[in-house]
Formats: sequence, C-alpha cells, structure tokens
Amino acid sequence: MDKISRKIQMVDLKSQYEKIKTEVDSAIQNVLNNTAFINGPEVKAFQTELEHYLGAKHVIPCANGTDALQIAMMALDLKPGDEVITADFTYVATAEVIALLGLKPVLVDVIPNTFEIDTAAIEKAITPKTKAIVPVHLFGQCADMEAIMALAKKHNLYVIEDTAQAIGAEYIFSDGTKKKAGTIGTIGCTSFFPSKNLGCYGDGGAIFTNDDTLATKIRIIANHGQSAQYIHDSIGVNSRLDSIQAAILRIKLRDLDHYAAARNKAATYYDKAFANHPKLITPARAKFSNHVFHQYTLQLNGVDRTALRDFLASKDIPAMIYYPIPLHLQKAYLDSRYKAGDFPVTEKLCASVMSLPMHTELDEETLKYITDSVLDFCK
Ligand SMILES: *Cc1c(COP(=O)(O)O)cnc(C)c1O
Repeated sequence: MDKISRKIQMVDLKSQYEKIKTEVDSAIQNVLNNTAFINGPEVKAFQTELEHYLGAKHVIPCANGTDALQIAMMALDLKPGDEVITADFTYVATAEVIALLGLKPVLVDVIPNTFEIDTAAIEKAITPKTKAIVPVHLFGQCADMEAIMALAKKHNLYVIEDTAQAIGAEYIFSDGTKKKAGTIGTIGCTSFFPSKNLGCYGDGGAIFTNDDTLATKIRIIANHGQSAQYIHDSIGVNSRLDSIQAAILRIKLRDLDHYAAARNKAATYYDKAFANHPKLITPARAKFSNHVFHQYTLQLNGVDRTALRDFLASKDIPAMIYYPIPLHLQKAYLDSRYKAGDFPVTEKLCASVMSLPMHTELDEETLKYITDSVLDFCK
C-alpha cells in the first residue's frame, strides 16, 4: 500500500479552513476593523443564529464548554453536598465542575455498544440528596433523553445536557418528534473547542435553555454576577465569547449539517469495512438518536491495542484512546465510595476502545488506506 500524500490527522482543521478561507479571513478582518472584540455584534448575531438552528429559546455564549457546565450548575443554585449524577465514561470536565463547586459527583456506568449513560444505573443511583443528572451525549449521539426526562420528572431533578460532542445531533422521541441535543433538559451546554463538531479557532462555549428566568440568571452569572452596570447581586464568573470566534462560528454554523453528513459518510465507510469482523466491534447507533460522529470508536476484541496503534503510527495513521482511564480510577476523583470493578462496562471500554481519524475532510482514498491497514493488522 502506498502512503497517501496528505498527512492523515485525527481532525484535519487545515483542509477544512482552506475551503472557507476567503469568508473566514474577511470576517476576522471585519472584526479587526470594528474593534468590538468582546460581545460585539458578531456575538449577538451568532447567538440568534444558533438559537434558530437549535430551536432553543435562549443561547448564552461563554468562554468554553467547561465554563458552560459550571455556570449551568451555579444558575440552578446547587449547594455543596448536593449529588449530581453523571457518566463514569466521559471527558473529565463534566465531573470536574461538579467537584469544583463542592457538589458530589455520583458516577454511573454506560451502555456497552453506544457508550451512552445507562438509564437504569441512573435510577439506582438516585437518593434524597440527588439534585441533577448530567447526561453526556458522548461521541456524537444522544443519551436516552426521553427516559432520563421521565426519571427527572418523577424525582424532581434538573437535567443538564453535556452536548460538547454532539451539537447538531437530534433526539427522536417515541412519538416521532425530534429535538436537537442540548434543548431537551433544563439546560444544555456545549463547547466550541477547535476539534469539536462546531469548533472555533480558539476557546468558546455556550449554554442553552428554554426558560426565561434561568436565561437571565445565566447571563448575569457569566458576567460577574452583574445585573446592571456595576450592580452585583450574586457572585458570578467572567466567561465571554470573543467576537472573532463568533464571526468564525457564524460561518461554520452554516456548514454544520454538511459537516455532520461528511462525518456520517466516513463512519459508514468504516462500518462497512469492519462489519462482522470477529476482532473489531463497530459503534452501535442508538435508535432514538441520529449521530454526528464526533468520534468513530471501535472496540477491540483480542487485539493488542498498543501494537495496533504502533503499527498504524508506522503508516502515519493516528489513533486515539478516548478515554484510557475511568473517572472513578483517576487520582483526582478517587473516592471511598468507588473501587476497581464497580463500573465493569466503562472499565472494559477504557481497556479496549480505539478512535480512528474522524473529520469533515476524509476522502475515500484515505479511508481505504486506514481501513486496509487496520484489517491488515487484525487478520
Ligand atoms: C470538550 C468537552 C468539554 C469541555 O469543553 P471545553 O470547551 O474544552 O472546556 C466538556 N464535556 C465534554 C464531554 C467534552 O468533550
């Protein structure tokens, strides 16, 4: 097999940028000309366009996805000691802000093939101290929101959707209606980190809600707890989206559905190449969600993962392990409540998953080279 000319990357932001360079460059120049660098008209315009795209009543832009989660929890007046349930198999940010606010992260396992939070496990973890559930729409498809919302209603809990990896994905309710990820729970949180599906060229994030009172509160918290100029009624944070990032996001938002289609095309290619392979388990698609493939994640069955990764690296094919260590076994989150073996699905996934290059610019030649190489090693 010949190596292909363009360097393969997990996420190819350069090739994507080249296609929108004229628009992006002039949008950035426009912000420079106006010098409204923070909260300028671009931020307001992006906010409105994202509200429209999502079908959300309010979008509040902020500095990053981690801040979005923190501000959401502050806005819900969660108090130290309150329990917040989230997935053991996720990026650390989700549990980090819970712990940072003095709340108690209560971890639960995930479903083996979709990687999404296990609803039955959530129900078992609910106690009188539980105040919120934070489902993570991991790798680009939704957790089972209908079941989670039913639990939340029954137990009077808030739901904060972490949709950092699934912006644009749609949840399909049992009656056939659809809603965008992040617009179903009490609050939705997302990230515009460059490698996310809607990524800017620096840091960025946003909070979504359909509740007017909460939206006002969130805006105040994100701006130093300021209700009117120099009037501070509550303790807030400083979390803003730059105008340059908003200008870039406006351009990329127009392409978001095309980006999702390109990612799905690549995922389908991978699915077909690896179908029914005894050593490779392809990611399952939940029936209640479409998928925007933030990651394409295989489970390896009887394959030496390190050796496969080294083999791929020798062919200039990157591969990543999202995530190598379950949260409950991370030093910062060790807790006497948890021990090795408590979350068998997550522990097995951490030992067996491998994510392949996934982005909007993968062509068939590259996909063939990647899949042939994986199959060559796993034969
Ligand atoms: C990226 C990510 C975040 C954090 O977003 P930042 O913008 O990097 O702060 C939170 N949760 C999940 C699941 C993520 O993937």
